[in-house]
Amino acid sequence: MNILDPKLKFKTVLKNNNTHEYIIIHHALASKCTVDDIHRWHLERGFIGIGYHFFISKNGFIYKGRDINWQGGHCKEQLMNIKSVGICLEGCYEDYKDQTDKVVPETQFQALAELVKPLLTTYKIPVERVKRHHDFANYKLCPGNYFPWDRFIETLKGVGSMEDIKVIIGKKVVKGKLIGNRTYVPVTEIVDAFNRTVRWEADERAVYIE
Ligand SMILES: [Zn+2]
Repeated sequence: MNILDPKLKFKTVLKNNNTHEYIIIHHALASKCTVDDIHRWHLERGFIGIGYHFFISKNGFIYKGRDINWQGGHCKEQLMNIKSVGICLEGCYEDYKDQTDKVVPETQFQALAELVKPLLTTYKIPVERVKRHHDFANYKLCPGNYFPWDRFIETLKGVGSMEDIKVIIGKKVVKGKLIGNRTYVPVTEIVDAFNRTVRWEADERAVYIE
């Protein structure tokens, strides 16, 4: 993963007071914009500079925003500015003026997943703490009702951790995989352990346990 540094100039240097307990996803509410635009807009609002820690363009480029160890300026509710990493997507994924984007480009979606997964590992953040801005500020739709939130969370759960594990059935030890929070074991191994037989019906794409 490549994170581009636009070398933004902030009005002041903050303390390293971010506890990184949550990840909060936003959209820019602007169909076309750059990390420099957002930095400028936030300066105009009196912030020290861009309030997000990362910005992702529609074509999937990831930009560094505010230092990840500094408090953000993206979600004032529940002290989230000192507890979270704020990520903003270029785009307007809700009906807003004439800017509506009904589809999140796949390159941007994948770049977001690629950015979030290592953050979960680095800061030991459970997937349940990846939130929409809307989850804390329900008067906003951010990151927009057109953002495929459920698919995004599934993407985070499914990939990232595929770990070899042992599954012990009576005295038999079988090799399994832990993918997300689910355990996968070859069905034949389980069936053998219980002295049953397994039959594969290719036409039906079905497994029968008898
Ligand atoms: Zn937001």
